[in-house]
Amino acid sequence: MKAPDIRVELYESFSELSTAGANITISKRARYILHKMNLEDACLKACRNAGDDKSKSPDLQETNKSTFRRLDALRISRGDFMKILFNSVPSKNLRLGKKLTKYTFIRENGPIGLQFSDGTRAICDVLVGSDGVRSTVRGQLMREKARLSDDDTFHKHVDPRWSGTIIYRSLIPRSRLAVQNPNHSLLSTGQIYLGNNQHITAHPFSNGMLDVAISITDLSKEGSPWPSNNWSSQLDKETSRRKLAKRFLDSNKEVQDLIKVFDMSIETAVMDVEPLPFYVRGHVALIGDAAHSALPYTGGNASMAIEDAYALGRILRISMTTKDTLPISLRAYQRIRKPHGNNNIHNARQVLREFQLNGNSGTDMESAIQRIRYHFHETFATTESTPDTDLRMALSWMNSEMSKSRHGRS
Ligand SMILES: Cc1cc2nc3c(=O)[nH]c(=O)nc-3n(C[C@H](O)[C@H](O)[C@H](O)COP(=O)(O)OP(=O)(O)OC[C@H]3O[C@@H](n4cnc5c(N)ncnc54)[C@H](O)[C@@H]3O)c2cc1C
Repeated sequence: MKAPDIRVELYESFSELSTAGANITISKRARYILHKMNLEDACLKACRNAGDDKSKSPDLQETNKSTFRRLDALRISRGDFMKILFNSVPSKNLRLGKKLTKYTFIRENGPIGLQFSDGTRAICDVLVGSDGVRSTVRGQLMREKARLSDDDTFHKHVDPRWSGTIIYRSLIPRSRLAVQNPNHSLLSTGQIYLGNNQHITAHPFSNGMLDVAISITDLSKEGSPWPSNNWSSQLDKETSRRKLAKRFLDSNKEVQDLIKVFDMSIETAVMDVEPLPFYVRGHVALIGDAAHSALPYTGGNASMAIEDAYALGRILRISMTTKDTLPISLRAYQRIRKPHGNNNIHNARQVLREFQLNGNSGTDMESAIQRIRYHFHETFATTESTPDTDLRMALSWMNSEMSKSRHGRS
């Protein structure tokens, strides 16, 4: 989105742009945005090159095969997607190796000073905190709010919250599973195996590997602090299998066969952000995971970040937005995006519970599957509304707020 009167500078803490990660899911609404920005074709091409023309998301066990395809979502490798985005940003606007440590309001509702870990500084009119789940900008905003309002409850939004769940993730050659069980359903399709306080998602990649993620929850730990700054560690094959075999002793043969071939894995604490009471203050706004990182069980985070960026970009470039009206414009962004972002957090928490048969459906598998479907539809917003419908609401609200403030002044 180009706007001749706005200069965008992108500060990234890493010294090179990271293309790490597996697949991300692009929802129908996010695809609409990529299409408008002339980026959808490049994404489809990357999916085709990876041998994955359409969504190849796993099916829920014992259900028909259409759940994800009907959602019109696209699954693309994070690396490919990042490259497509990088190529669309002029390199003169990128500042790599710049880790923001602090911002300062130079004047209330005025410019903002930025400080980086290398000792350098910068000034901007609007600070958009797009710095992920461990956001420095969110941390500072929430701590300031706690101090100014003398209300400690804002501190719960500073650090990510542990769900009580650990994911064990491994890539396994399909050929190894075929030796263990030549009739295993994972040799032909993805699956999600629901269970009591544990579940497994597994889907085949076109390169002959199976991506397997085993999630185990201790509900008594939900919301408690994760003891270390490090959320992930590598486990060797023996430790991985030993940790998992006992848990799945009573499971069906398919699951037991899968555990027998499970390889060394990455063990990761599953975190999200407690839904925020606000996304903006003065000239500072939060977008993406910084504002509403959800548990990874609906796969909605990347799409939500795309929708936030589009909404904020469109609002900032309209003529009604000037340096004087920025606080109103940013609040308009918050009005349309906060409900979606916070809802995504709730949906993902509900999906995890239904996957692990400890949600509203209890152990009723059929009901759990229905509810999971419902939450996926909510996340991927296959309703009639498009991001532009939301924008029209934002613009109409801005009009009315600006007219009120003009009358207030006269
Ligand atoms: C390495 C990595 C791998 C991932 N893999 C997957 C995956 O396989 N599947 C999936 O669904 N999602 C994955 N995600 C998450 C997914 O990218 C995000 O949920 C989603 O895209 C939302 O993006 P975001 O820009 O809000 O946050 P992020 O993608 O987390 O980006 C935040 C960026 O801000 C930078 N940053 C953080 N703090 C500072 C600071 N103080 N100053 C300057 N820069 C800072 C980070 O280096 C990062 O580049 C991954 C994220 C990362 C960072």
